[in-house]
Amino acid sequence: MIDLHTHTTASDGSLSPEELICLANEIGLSGIAITDHDTTDGIAPAKAEAERIGMLFVPGIEISAEYTEQGTMHILGYFVDEKNDYFEETLLFLKESRKQRNPKMIKLLNEAGVYITMDDVVQEAGGGQVGRPHFAKAMIKKGFCASTPEAFDKYIAKGAPCYVNKERLTPKDSIDLIRRAGGVPVLAHPKTLKLPNKKDLKSLLKDLKKMGLVGLECYYFSNTKEEEANSIALARELGLLISGGTDFHGKNKPKVRLGVGLGNMNIPEYILDNLISMHEKMAVNSKVQKGEEIQPDGH
Ligand code: AMP
Ligand code: ZN
Ligand code: FE
Ligand code: FE
Repeated sequence: MIDLHTHTTASDGSLSPEELICLANEIGLSGIAITDHDTTDGIAPAKAEAERIGMLFVPGIEISAEYTEQGTMHILGYFVDEKNDYFEETLLFLKESRKQRNPKMIKLLNEAGVYITMDDVVQEAGGGQVGRPHFAKAMIKKGFCASTPEAFDKYIAKGAPCYVNKERLTPKDSIDLIRRAGGVPVLAHPKTLKLPNKKDLKSLLKDLKKMGLVGLECYYFSNTKEEEANSIALARELGLLISGGTDFHGKNKPKVRLGVGLGNMNIPEYILDNLISMHEKMAVNSKVQKGEEIQPDGH
């Protein structure tokens, strides 16, 4: 078993990077990627823990790209070099835009009679980056909502009265960012794009591929078997790498279990093998483009 889409306390997951790797080991995963929202803060501690126990670890990220009013576009980046200067600077800009958004959402919530403070939310984030699930938790704790879905639907989902947008990169810039950091860009959960039909999805994927997209997340916790099969067929048709993960958030998405999603997911290990080969191929190509020397082992 593998899982290539997970969140830690560095963003809005409930397990620390070390705890997540430990759980992955306990349930017998042979490989894992952590993909926190717009941050690489969890990578170093997760990597150290994975090395300690001998688990195959992929440093990743999930970038929220600019998209339509109704839909959400997230782009996963695998094998990103978190020390790349341009990458670090851009992530800092994204973090800053989150920080500016959060107090605006607090103000709107207060005006709507939901009296939570920035401190409440920061406390829920426990030192990690603040995300909307932390707003939901604070609202539940103070008794303004009974559940996370209720908090989102009534107040903080995209399109709800207290939602505030944050600065985002365009899809092209998100893909460029990942590639400049040596990563492999993969479109996450295509169904959240909310496209009306297959034809539109196909044409968008073709455009994204021209921009440098490499893969498509076909295995996803909320996919039906039919959606999974359709995504795989589409990825094959368009020459995109097939990827998959559960979008594990720990207690912040309590129904979703690491490695198995809602219980019956089975992400084949060849996916990780292909991802590794693709990353190596891209690294070699980029060296060739830069005119750098390539060692006999291909690295
Ligand atoms: P943020 O990055 O602060 O915009 O928050 C994004 C997080 O909110 C993601 O992890 C989503 O899983 C979660 N989220 C977005 N929309 C909803 C929704 N309608 N219901 C529950 N969770 C959501
Ligand atoms: Zn999340
Ligand atoms: Fe996502
Ligand atoms: Fe995610």
